[in-house]
Amino acid sequence: MAAHTSFGVGGAAELYLEPRTAAAMVAAVRALRAADMATVVLGRGTNVLVSDLGVKGAVVCSYPGLSRLEVSGSRVVVAAGVLLGRVCHAAADAGLSGMEAMAGIPGTLGGALFMNAGANGTTIGDLVEAAAVVGPDGETHHVRADEMAFGYRSSNLCEKGWWVIEATLSLASGCTEKVHEKAYGALQQRCAKQPVASPSAGSIFKRPPGDYAGRIVEEVGAKGLRVGGAEISGKHANFIVNVGGATAADVLALIHEAQRRAYEQFGVKLEPEVCMVGEGFGEG
Ligand SMILES: Cc1cc2nc3c(=O)[nH]c(=O)nc-3n(C[C@H](O)[C@H](O)[C@H](O)COP(=O)(O)OP(=O)(O)OC[C@H]3O[C@@H](n4cnc5c(N)ncnc54)[C@H](O)[C@@H]3O)c2cc1C
Repeated sequence: MAAHTSFGVGGAAELYLEPRTAAAMVAAVRALRAADMATVVLGRGTNVLVSDLGVKGAVVCSYPGLSRLEVSGSRVVVAAGVLLGRVCHAAADAGLSGMEAMAGIPGTLGGALFMNAGANGTTIGDLVEAAAVVGPDGETHHVRADEMAFGYRSSNLCEKGWWVIEATLSLASGCTEKVHEKAYGALQQRCAKQPVASPSAGSIFKRPPGDYAGRIVEEVGAKGLRVGGAEISGKHANFIVNVGGATAADVLALIHEAQRRAYEQFGVKLEPEVCMVGEGFGEG
């Protein structure tokens, strides 16, 4: 799975599928269910840490196969495997505003819905009108935004066992040039603050109430800490980067060390934002 994640970490999956259409994705869910095989759905793999032991069962990846994107008035219909960057561009080209703050988030629409991804106060959940999902019963359901219970970096997709097939975003009308400009500004800011050139999974910890995880990790002296091939980034302490040959165990050791220090020194429980997938992580 290292080849399918932005961290470049993780053992093999028993079965790896890349459906090319929504119908193929639904067929995969049904077939895997009939075979009683454990399954995990992934997008671009930019928010996951896959176990060194790999994934027992199947990984079904919506990227790059589920690639439909259609703009209609102020609505954009986006398939699960479409990268957010493409949505940002298409929206800007159509003079639609709302996605700008999310320029530079490297994942797919499906992964973004699962995590309620966002930046600078905007989340994808604010823009979603409805989604088509396939449920554990192998049937396609149409759900409204309020049925997905979006919260801070959370939704109920995991709890419901819903896999996103596509979603409709409702955007505001704007000026193409200004939307592009704003998105470009967000991208520049991101490049200045984050270690975007190194393999990572983005923010490792969720923001604790009223504070920033990066500030706490830095304060407890963990910035720059290294275990094996993994390092707490010297550029942004809420990023762990793979500096070469990192294993999931290396990353996990750093996560635990930062959590231990944060709790001992400040009584703060840092909660991982990154999703743990595979053998030994208790899911997947
Ligand atoms: C450099 C960098 C910067 C980042 N910056 C941000 C940021 O500013 N804000 C932010 O929120 N995130 C950020 N991220 C994290 C990540 O890009 C987002 O969370 C993104 O939305 C994840 O999408 P993905 O396709 O990569 O999901 P994956 O990593 O493939 O999956 C993440 C989770 O979503 C689930 N999932 C994936 N697809 C589906 C689907 N179709 N249906 C149901 N569940 C699904 C998976 O099972 C998994 O649990 C960053 C990551 C990196 C590497």
